[in-house]
Amino acid sequence: MSVLLPPLREVIARHGLSASKALGQNFLFDEKLLDRIAAIPGPLAGEHVYEVGPGPGGLTRALLRAGAQVVAVERDHRCLPALAELAEAFPGKLRVIAGDALKIDPFAEIGAPFHIVSNLPYNVGTALAVGWLGGNAWPPTWKSLTLMFQREVADRIVSAPGTGAFGRLAILAQWRSNASIAMPVHRSAFTPPPKVMSAVVHITPKEAASGVKMSVLENLTGAAFGQRRKMLRQSLKGVPGALEALHKTGITEDRRPETVNIAEWCALAKEVG
Ligand code: SAM
Repeated sequence: MSVLLPPLREVIARHGLSASKALGQNFLFDEKLLDRIAAIPGPLAGEHVYEVGPGPGGLTRALLRAGAQVVAVERDHRCLPALAELAEAFPGKLRVIAGDALKIDPFAEIGAPFHIVSNLPYNVGTALAVGWLGGNAWPPTWKSLTLMFQREVADRIVSAPGTGAFGRLAILAQWRSNASIAMPVHRSAFTPPPKVMSAVVHITPKEAASGVKMSVLENLTGAAFGQRRKMLRQSLKGVPGALEALHKTGITEDRRPETVNIAEWCALAKEVG
């Protein structure tokens, strides 16, 4: 849909939207880059999208241009008038919720399957992603996650066993989802530029290993990666049933947690029960 909108920089100047560090505000203005991010989930015409932190609305515009039906939650009240203008330009296509995304259940707001697309505020990005990836209900209510993270966090999410980045975040993101880096983004693409590089991660759910409880997997990986330099015999000794489960699954006690692959973590969790 082609709708004539004022340049984003003008919107920011007119509404006095100086970037707030406390709210993790690093804005994107490049329309081509924003359109490329909005294309990552696949065709969005008629799809529901939940966006966290629309700010002045750059990514929101790209999602609306792609034909999505958007619900966006923004904590910074200064952005609301600019977002109201955008909602007017796309009648019936954008609903803005003023609030904290950490307290919002998107499914309760949308009531249908949806994609999550966000240039996340860095200070709450990991907590939000952990919330969306966690929980016992699977498949989740979201169809895909397209999320901008600091590069270092993105690398941890997609990391493979045996690497220094492999840990709880990788296991959480990969044991019942496919996670990949869809696009590295240079720090200079943002206004103001953050100190570090970024990357967009794309995550889609897959079938979970049967018989594995999220809470058990969390206990095991929490204990093991909480002392990641220690061998499993030491780090898991406080988790009831874990040493016996190591024995039954043939995972030797002298291994360190980053050498245990995701299928092995799942086997261990299943055995612990
Ligand atoms: N989407 C815009 C873009 O790409 O240019 C802005 C992205 S900026 C990195 C993050 C946005 O998240 C800011 O607008 C900030 O105010 C908002 N934000 C920060 N914490 C939030 C929270 N807990 N809930 C909802 N929005 C939040």
